[in-house]
Amino acid sequence: MDTQPNSPEARDKKYHMHAYTNARRHQEVGPLIIEKGDGIYVEDISGKRYIEAMSGLWSVGVGFSEQRLVDAATRQMSKLPFYHNFTHKGHSPLVDLSEKLVNMAPVPMSKAFFTNSGSEANDTAMKMIWFRSNALGQPQRKKIISRKRAYHGVTIASASLTGLLNNHLSFDLPIANVLHTSSPHHWREALPGETEQQFSTRLADDLEKLILAEGPETIAAFFGEPVMGAGGVVVPPAGYWEKIQAVLQKYDILLVADEVICGFGRTGNMFGTETYAMKPDIMVMSKQISSSYLPISAMLINDKVFEPLADESNRIGTFGHGFTAGGHPVAAAVALENIAIIEERNLVANAREVGAHMQKRLARIASHDLVGEVRGIALIGAMELVADKATKAPWGAAGALGGLVNGILQQNGVISRNMGDALAFCPPLIINDKQVDDIFDAVEKSLDEAAKQVK
Ligand code: PLP
Repeated sequence: MDTQPNSPEARDKKYHMHAYTNARRHQEVGPLIIEKGDGIYVEDISGKRYIEAMSGLWSVGVGFSEQRLVDAATRQMSKLPFYHNFTHKGHSPLVDLSEKLVNMAPVPMSKAFFTNSGSEANDTAMKMIWFRSNALGQPQRKKIISRKRAYHGVTIASASLTGLLNNHLSFDLPIANVLHTSSPHHWREALPGETEQQFSTRLADDLEKLILAEGPETIAAFFGEPVMGAGGVVVPPAGYWEKIQAVLQKYDILLVADEVICGFGRTGNMFGTETYAMKPDIMVMSKQISSSYLPISAMLINDKVFEPLADESNRIGTFGHGFTAGGHPVAAAVALENIAIIEERNLVANAREVGAHMQKRLARIASHDLVGEVRGIALIGAMELVADKATKAPWGAAGALGGLVNGILQQNGVISRNMGDALAFCPPLIINDKQVDDIFDAVEKSLDEAAKQVK
């Protein structure tokens, strides 16, 4: 790293507090400053090239150099750089995007509502659900169930929905009315000899017990990612969504599918909702909606949600919620063009086909001494690192081995992300088989290098 006092690295340490970073350790470690990107690759400030095997933050679906998105942004920026959708106003990109999203939805949806981030969208979903309960004359129906290891964002409400310790500790979270049911990670949580189906049945029973203990009339909604992402890529066990949804239907509880990572092709279908036959009342989307070229997020709501909201807004005189930049015209134009690219280039089919190759390469490393489990579907996956395969024990502190291997892998030219001891892989949807091989050749090499330090 450059140590000149005026180097970007030195100025970063002096002036910039990073997200999701140990702020003290950053002073020793310093930043990795990424300067440019093309396709699945990014280049740092020293000219070193990496495969971005996380698509940035699970998000740059079409890759890092898509000129059509630059052109769409430029056109819209020149025509109408800003307008909003408050108080009956609107603009064409948002009309077009609303129509597109409602028509794309794999289950009947009524309206689209726009925000700027996944966190804001989940926060908004929670507010809509509370507003709806009041509209229906059920003010006691305010509790929301999420899951341990879920990730739904970082605002006060969405961080409460998130089921990860680091998002709660010292933030005084979660807030009241948010409950967390069991995590669906079979390898970690199943009882000895328990099949995936049996495990799913037990988790559905856990959910029902929680609902009954709290009072079914107090539970408004259940939030879930079709495949958990930031909790370590947890693919639902066989039968999971079917059994969970049966319980939700029994007690008339809304289902919110958080498609922020799964949406727009990641699991080999346009939405994770299709992959797992989910029937959500609200779908939350962001990230790959615009390949993160600009911030935008959206929620689709069905009539069961929209109609009471409309009635309540009529009673009060407004739906008193919305963000200045929610559904920004330039971001909406980029999202429309991005979705067109995903469709025209068959990137969902590519995720399925190249994803099958990625899952094969993941399966191959399962036999490595340091790998306890591999998991995934299509173009999302993870390997869980252990010091002892039989006991599943970590190497020293939890996350130490994940950090070690992730660092070596980065030196070897691949950017992944370790969530504790799970290393995730979520490459751009445009990736091909040969590039998947490049990633996993580097992963195998890095595991061998790490093994020398661990043994
Ligand atoms: N929901 C899911 C499933 C996510 O993965 C994320 C971010 O990683 C969020 C919500 C929060 O999105 P944002 O970081 O845009 O607030």
